[in-house]
Amino acid sequence: MKPETLHAMPEKGCGYLCKKMIPIRYVKGVGPKREKILNRVGVFFLKDLLYYFPVRYQDRSHIEQINLLEEGKTSLIRAEITSLKVSQAFYGRKATIRASLRDSTGNIQGIWFNQPYLKDYLKIGLSYYFYGKIQRYNDRLQIVSAEFERLNSEDDLDISGIVAFYRLTQGLSQNNLRRLIRTCFSNYRNQIVETIPFDIRKEYNFPNILEALSGIHSPASFEDIKRSRQRFIFEEFFIMQILLFRRKAELRLKRRPALSIDHSVVDKVKNNFGFTLTGDQEKAICEVFSDVSSDLRNSRLLQGDVGSGKTVVASIAAFCVARSGFQVAFMVPTEVLAIQHKKTLEGLAKGLDLKIDIITSGLAIKKRKDIYAKLSQGKIDIIVGTHALLNEDLRFKNLRFVVVDEQHRFGVAQRALLARKGIDADILVMSATPIPRSLALTLYGDLEVSLIKEYPKGRKFARTEIVKEKERGKVYEFIRQKVQEGRQVYIIYALVEESSQEDLYPAVQMYERLVKEFKSLRLGLLHGRLDSRQKQSVLNNFKNNEIDILVSTLVVEVGLDIPNATVMVVENPERFGLAQLHQLRGRITRSNLPSYFFMIAKKDIYSSARKRLEVIAETCDGFKIAEQDLELRGPGDLFGTLQAGYLPTSIASSQDDLKILETARSRAFKVIKKDPYLELRQHKELNSAIKEYIDKGLLWQAS
Ligand code: ADP
Ligand code: MG
Repeated sequence: MKPETLHAMPEKGCGYLCKKMIPIRYVKGVGPKREKILNRVGVFFLKDLLYYFPVRYQDRSHIEQINLLEEGKTSLIRAEITSLKVSQAFYGRKATIRASLRDSTGNIQGIWFNQPYLKDYLKIGLSYYFYGKIQRYNDRLQIVSAEFERLNSEDDLDISGIVAFYRLTQGLSQNNLRRLIRTCFSNYRNQIVETIPFDIRKEYNFPNILEALSGIHSPASFEDIKRSRQRFIFEEFFIMQILLFRRKAELRLKRRPALSIDHSVVDKVKNNFGFTLTGDQEKAICEVFSDVSSDLRNSRLLQGDVGSGKTVVASIAAFCVARSGFQVAFMVPTEVLAIQHKKTLEGLAKGLDLKIDIITSGLAIKKRKDIYAKLSQGKIDIIVGTHALLNEDLRFKNLRFVVVDEQHRFGVAQRALLARKGIDADILVMSATPIPRSLALTLYGDLEVSLIKEYPKGRKFARTEIVKEKERGKVYEFIRQKVQEGRQVYIIYALVEESSQEDLYPAVQMYERLVKEFKSLRLGLLHGRLDSRQKQSVLNNFKNNEIDILVSTLVVEVGLDIPNATVMVVENPERFGLAQLHQLRGRITRSNLPSYFFMIAKKDIYSSARKRLEVIAETCDGFKIAEQDLELRGPGDLFGTLQAGYLPTSIASSQDDLKILETARSRAFKVIKKDPYLELRQHKELNSAIKEYIDKGLLWQAS
């Protein structure tokens, strides 16, 4: 499978649903044109459509009478437009639409500002639902900026109760979707099968699949919606967890030769390292040793906050494997990091006689081919690389151990893809993004976990401050003083994209300003558009203390290790997420020197952004920050960012929903324990669901 195809997952469709995967174009009412439109919202099969859940609902069972409307309330009325006036924007006046709305009890004015295009949807003589806030203007009530939807007489949809609203796209209206889903539901009822076994549904009082689908698309009550949602959340988690357990079991089906660890290697490395390992590091090393030496394959997650010293752990294990005559691959997200890792590894491996090399996509073809050849002949022991490692033409002689650093930057599928290049390879994934336990189960449920909670001895946390714009001068003064003392400084600039020159402009401009500001100091500029030679030379200069201040974009977020740089200033910190800020701060706590983290925040940033900065200022504990992140953003969003290409849909949206995950996990465990291959009759549909998943290549082939 090519890596690209792994990303091309449909957005929706967790559960196995229909006996046949019916492409959406065969569904009545869907022609080629609508097919394209539906594809845009992730609907490819009938099943996807049925699982295209509403994003919100409106209760239309309480329509209010115009003569009883009260000021200040948000109300729903059903009324006819009797007149319509559009005034264009004019010298600072906003464009306004005014409409007189009438029902059998009275009149009210509807008013919309700054949305002149709405006039195309409002027609005199037609009736609509209007939903909006009632306000008083002069002496009369108005309904302001109401949402509206046309009442369709030829429409056979009964939309007087609770009405579903879907995420739309151009060419698709709420009514289109409602009608389409309804038709599908009634036409294909008999094709829809149940995936949650009866006893589980009974135990938790979940509605069956038909009830649940109707409860989510055309609910009779809000209670209906709630029960249906819970069922679907359970279903999603349940299947996900079964997959995880299955995968874990499959990984361990085959035996391989055991491997014995040569402890003299460990001693040599420890010697090269020059520090004592922390207790947690020692423990993690033991755990990884037991993985790589075992005659069964293993996969493990090594979790430890930024700067907790994961690299050494992975390196020691890597050297032992390599010294036993097997190959090791280190996958990292960026070229900069690849180069740094290679250097670190070379330093630690002194005297071990290991061949370490690097592969990145920036490499010239000839050089790349040369590396491919050496890898397949076993002439390289340890290869460090970026995504370039996933290339189909890259083959190993005997890959036994795969290390994936900064795991959150890769998809699950990618790590599996790399591991598949060795028949018997173990995987160690390292993550510096601490993950709340509930989420960790979902994302990494198939992995053993090692934790590094202890920091290297004497490590100090960065003093963190939110700085007002007008105090910028003080920060600059502080920078001068620290440079005077011999320290180095990062100034980080937030950029949304680095793809074009234009986007980059602010950082470049900023750099020029700073060069003038710090006349006597040496400045460097680093960003994603530099080619790898330029990047490397800037970094080398910084590393060798030939640059005092490195002005950089997020390129430095991940893993960069320059202990003497102890001051960081972040511009536009509100543009970064919590995890990113935490990662950034991790760059300056790489030694026992005191360190300082300044976020220069403008006055007018959103309160949610300010909250993020306050969290960072309050704590350095990555796990606490992760919990806060979950709270501030909700799991749906986190799923997406924590793990590219993971289960893409998640109807779970609040932390409460995550509680269902624990239940789903324990039920899944029970099921797999009793019936590992899902052969029992009551698991037949579940088994098909899982198969479908695997067939689609979505995630989890045993690697
Ligand atoms: P991360 O977990 O973020 O990948 P690294 O492995 O890059 O952390 O280690 C962070 C820094 O701490 C490095 O400079 C490393 O050499 C140093 N370090 C790691 N372990 C120890 C230790 N036990 N004692 C002192 N310094 C350590
Ligand atoms: Mg690291």
